[in-house]
Amino acid sequence: MSYIDKIFPVALPTVEEIETKYKNRSLIDGQKVTRFAPSPTGSFHIGGLYAALISQRVAHQSKGVFFLRIEDTDTKREVEGAADLFINSLNMYDINPNEGAGLNGSDIGEYGPYRQSQRKEIYQSYIKELLIAGKAYVCFTTSEELDEIRKHQEVTSARMGYYGKWAKSRNLPVEIVEEKLNAGDEYVIRLKSDGDYNKKITIKDNSKGSIDFPENDLDVVIMKKDKLPTYHFAHVVDDHLMQTTDVLRGDEWIASLPLHMQMFRIMGWKAPRYTHFAPIQKLDEGNRRKLSKRKDPEAGVVYYDEVGYPKASVIEYLLNLANSNFEDWRKQNPTLNNSEFNLTLNKLSPSGSLFDFVKLNSVSKEVIAKLSVEEMFDYVSIWADEFDSELKAMLDSDSKYVKDIFSIERVGVKNVRKDFAKWSEVKEGIGYFFDDKFANIDIDLALEEINRTEGKEIVSAFVKTYNPADTKEEWFAKMLEVAEAFGYAKNGKVYKAEPEKYKGDVSAVVKIFRILLTGKPQSPDLYSVMNVMGKDRVMKRLSAI
Ligand code: GLU
Repeated sequence: MSYIDKIFPVALPTVEEIETKYKNRSLIDGQKVTRFAPSPTGSFHIGGLYAALISQRVAHQSKGVFFLRIEDTDTKREVEGAADLFINSLNMYDINPNEGAGLNGSDIGEYGPYRQSQRKEIYQSYIKELLIAGKAYVCFTTSEELDEIRKHQEVTSARMGYYGKWAKSRNLPVEIVEEKLNAGDEYVIRLKSDGDYNKKITIKDNSKGSIDFPENDLDVVIMKKDKLPTYHFAHVVDDHLMQTTDVLRGDEWIASLPLHMQMFRIMGWKAPRYTHFAPIQKLDEGNRRKLSKRKDPEAGVVYYDEVGYPKASVIEYLLNLANSNFEDWRKQNPTLNNSEFNLTLNKLSPSGSLFDFVKLNSVSKEVIAKLSVEEMFDYVSIWADEFDSELKAMLDSDSKYVKDIFSIERVGVKNVRKDFAKWSEVKEGIGYFFDDKFANIDIDLALEEINRTEGKEIVSAFVKTYNPADTKEEWFAKMLEVAEAFGYAKNGKVYKAEPEKYKGDVSAVVKIFRILLTGKPQSPDLYSVMNVMGKDRVMKRLSAI
């Protein structure tokens, strides 16, 4: 029995058995197979959602397959429940994989298992083949020895890494290998690199174009001490077996491309096409930097939930970041589902897109403006149920009243009022409609230049004729009448033409009512506000002057 057999379990499937199990996907007409492959090591980063979205869109545009693979071979860094968190989040954002890891350890699809921790034997079969073929070797170099090598390399200004003369275990005689294995020495398995660092290879990346790299000559670890593969090896095996046509991932992986291409070649497999995109960045005191989980709350997907951005807003915003022509497309197709937008990989910004709250908010306001009153109520209610019990109580206390409030400048108007970008703005936005939230206002301060006695007279003149059944035109005619009676011009133009003749224009009069009713110098259409508030509330508030 060779030492190679002793390393692996007896019942390892053969490479042929594995290959026959993964049936050819028989893709036609440029169908693409893409995947999202998160490592369940913590929270979901917005860059991950971005990668997942791009991968999903590219697959679906080609009527291909998008699958989810959980890359959980780094058991030390794994966080419990993280895989389910990814699965749930993708689901909520409507980025639904056609195949892949499901909740509670389930799997959907013929090309699994989709969790790398469940694929240990598959990797081992291929690693065994590599060992037999002399394309990999058992390495006993301890971490102390690796430290030594590193120090030597530092002192002599040599290139870092395990290669060439530094790769001590590369040519160990079989007897030594056997002896060490028998002695129970710890080991890893390394790729026996056939690359020459002084030679260049050109690799084509869909986003970055053709890039020249030195060949890889590092003997990288492919099987760790725990007998699980490293990311690099698992990526190559899985994307071969699962027949990924396009790998779309963050450009932190671009430096690994020479290695990945080399591994595909050594294995005798066709490599997928690669697209590496720059991370979402932000301006920090004038400098670009990556969004950071530590510094920027908006780096975590959970943030958007907490402050109440609708999922559709986040997706539309990410599409904006991915392809700058999305904005024009949206203008031309205001009602189409964004899944109809054709995402173009070579339009991804090679230097990275900048995160911008102003843009996110304006995108989100557009999304919210398209919701019906019922939809908006439901969204706010679901959000408030989780994040704001006070708002939830307001909604529950009188849902009809809240829906009427939401209807203002939303129903029956051509240009919907775009006042909310996220649900956490709603409580403050509608608070003044509720008597217990309507703060006592300092009327003198609020009215500023208007004399309070005159204000009182104006209000009572209007109240005498006020009829909640009036149309907007009738209502405004009454306002005008009162304004003119007190020496205010009927509009700004008339006032400006002869300012000496008037105290101001009608807007100064309307402002008195606006402040008394809403406590704010700006509000939605005042006629509608009064209608929704109802006569009793209106009279009570007006009487405060
Ligand atoms: N598990 C890797 C990560 O989370 C995936 C990289 C890839 O898409 O190949 O970064």
